[in-house]
Amino acid sequence: MKRGKLLRLTAICLAFYGCVLAACLYGYTVFIQHQMANQISHALEDVAAQSRLVLCQEVEANQQLLQGVAQQIVSVGADQPEAGVRSLMPLVKMYGFKRMGIAAADGTAFTTDNRVIQVGQRDFFLAAMENEKVLTAPVKDSTDGMWINVYAVPLVENQEPVGVLFAVYSTRQFRTLLDVPSFQGKGYSYVIESDGTIVVSQNNIYENLFQMLPAVSERNLQAVEVMQKDMARGGSGMVEFERDGRRYGYYMPLGINDWYLLNVVPSEVLEARTAPVLGANHLLIGILVVSFLAGAAVLSGTRARQKRRLMELAYADPLTGGYNFAKFCQEADEQLKQPHGKLACVVLDLQNFKRINSIFGVEEGNRVLRQVWSVWLSSIRTGEVAARRTADHFVALWKYDDPAQLETRAEEVAQVLLDVSQDANRPNVMPAIGVYELEEKDFEWEKVYNQALTASKMVRTRQGFCAFYDQAMRDATRELQQIESRLDGAFLNREFIPYYQPKFGPDGTTVTGAEALVRWNCDGTLIPPGRFIPLCEQNGWIARLDDYMLEAVVRQQTAWRKQGRAIVPVSVNLSRARLYQKDYAIRCREMFQQAGLPPWAVQFEVTESAAVENVENMRDVIRQLHQAGFRVLVDDFGTGYSSMASLKDLSFDILKLDKSFVDEIGNSRGDKIIRFTIELAKSLGMSVTAEGVEQEQQFLFLKERGCDDFQGYYFAKPLAAQAFEQLLRPEKEGEQ
Ligand code: C2E
Ligand code: MG
Ligand code: MG
Repeated sequence: MKRGKLLRLTAICLAFYGCVLAACLYGYTVFIQHQMANQISHALEDVAAQSRLVLCQEVEANQQLLQGVAQQIVSVGADQPEAGVRSLMPLVKMYGFKRMGIAAADGTAFTTDNRVIQVGQRDFFLAAMENEKVLTAPVKDSTDGMWINVYAVPLVENQEPVGVLFAVYSTRQFRTLLDVPSFQGKGYSYVIESDGTIVVSQNNIYENLFQMLPAVSERNLQAVEVMQKDMARGGSGMVEFERDGRRYGYYMPLGINDWYLLNVVPSEVLEARTAPVLGANHLLIGILVVSFLAGAAVLSGTRARQKRRLMELAYADPLTGGYNFAKFCQEADEQLKQPHGKLACVVLDLQNFKRINSIFGVEEGNRVLRQVWSVWLSSIRTGEVAARRTADHFVALWKYDDPAQLETRAEEVAQVLLDVSQDANRPNVMPAIGVYELEEKDFEWEKVYNQALTASKMVRTRQGFCAFYDQAMRDATRELQQIESRLDGAFLNREFIPYYQPKFGPDGTTVTGAEALVRWNCDGTLIPPGRFIPLCEQNGWIARLDDYMLEAVVRQQTAWRKQGRAIVPVSVNLSRARLYQKDYAIRCREMFQQAGLPPWAVQFEVTESAAVENVENMRDVIRQLHQAGFRVLVDDFGTGYSSMASLKDLSFDILKLDKSFVDEIGNSRGDKIIRFTIELAKSLGMSVTAEGVEQEQQFLFLKERGCDDFQGYYFAKPLAAQAFEQLLRPEKEGEQ
């Protein structure tokens, strides 16, 4: 798996793990908090249950006592309350009552502190007369204003209440019952009625709790609502509320009236108990979160490093470590966004670099390129950009004020390059610097670069090492664009025409063959191949052109044959693109069979450089062409660096001596080379055709050396079909 993919997968896993971890931690925390709340609730419930027990026992004991006494009074005679009261006096002290009393049915009461009072309208009296056991809420004692609770039971005779026995109990005493120390003395309790009225309070507050709490904090409202709801159905529960800090309160019904015991404890007291567990929980969460973040940080660090590395790969030139062209475009765009003066795109081309590479090897070539780069880079000023585009092409964005200054600077850089390369034991690098002055509308760096490159190509025709992109180049570029835009139409409208340049035998008059050369009839003007073939090669239409020409020649040869002319072999030029097509020979054979034309009627000219580049493919294609009966020529022999290699590897039928050889005739070294080349070809069983023969002397020399065929302006220029056919004899009987 690729590293990038792996990291992406890890990031997804980590994100997934992060989510699962967060969900687990959240769930775990909720669970712990729930457990802690339960624990707190149980602790409070335990304490409340103890207090309730104490209270209930006390109330129960007092009520039983009162009931026992009531029975005695009735047995003695309830109609003599005064006498009965005296018997109560020892009990008052013994049981801690404030006073006791007996009330007759009319409400007249005699008390142990020797008072006669009217209680007929009091609640406790009325309830007891209804046969109820009573314990009242706190009321103020009419004698001393202290808070009291009243126990009361009916005096029943013949199952009818005939009076009431009551005992006054100081509320303070209830309070002491609640004083059971709990939670290190920090817990306290209330007895409240279900409507919130405080019945017993350890801190002497007898307000309504349900009104008091919301007054302290609005947040208590929720707690009050919960309590009210629970109390309405006689339930118990725990709430959290604010009163001098956060408090937990546990409430449970007492089983006395509608009273509730409310046990309160400051939250910190309870939370101190759960703190170790929560602390451990938080520590665990902390460790998990930190380790997760650390993992994520390491991963994102790796990703950041990887991204940086990718950026480096995408924007760095691997050979020099400097910018590549993509980065150049990006940086140049940045420069355009800033306020800037005049800018120029400068391209450096090393004219002889291929030679350095092929003679001294790739390692040395790379060393030269690095050396050139360091000079190129050091020539850059602030706010300028430099990069390497391809093998020996460097590019820069320079700032300038006037073109003369730009030219001087370019010449200086070229001179430094020459000086640096002079020390090395190999040919000097030959710098060619092309300059394109940017215009306002220029922002397509590819186009700008090509214009500077075009200018650099002009250097060899001028003095110095620098050339500017000028009007002539602008016109040429425009013309190229026009040609390119019309090429497709030219194919469709069949505007390409084959011209035929005859080849002659040693007698100089017999036409032994011809070469088909393409011309473009563009609106009546004949455009030579040099103007459009490079374009076809660039945009991949060269194979289309070759097919077109082959087809045109086949058609023409067939037509001439039908007209009864003795046709001669016509060669067509084969571009490199065709050499990649494995079934080319088969297709040609089929085409000839359909046309009924013998294969000798067409020959193929393959340029030497094409042959060298595709030895394997070429060998197959040539073999197949031979098998199909075609003859193959090596064109322009002697122009490449590997002429011998092409002869060694490939079996051509005819060697076509390049014009540059023929031009050398008359020069003694040239003469020797030609003689040797012809002998070599003959010894390999090839015949020789000389091209570019312009003078009689050249013809005679070549003829004497054994050259078989001759092509050149001395005999004839490329001719239109009608002109060429004049040279073809009528076919004699028996001829092919
Ligand atoms: P080539 O195949 O080497 O063709 C010979 C070129 O030399 C032709 O130029 C021809 O007109 C020219 N020539 C012949 N004799 C003389 C002479 O005595 N003096 C001078 N100065 N020139 C002479 P042309 O027609 O301009 O073709 C140029 C090149 O274009 C050809 O070189 C060939 O490589 C290419 N070409 C032409 N037609 C085609 C074609 O149909 N397909 C392909 N792939 N290439 C073609
Ligand atoms: Mg040719
Ligand atoms: Mg040629």
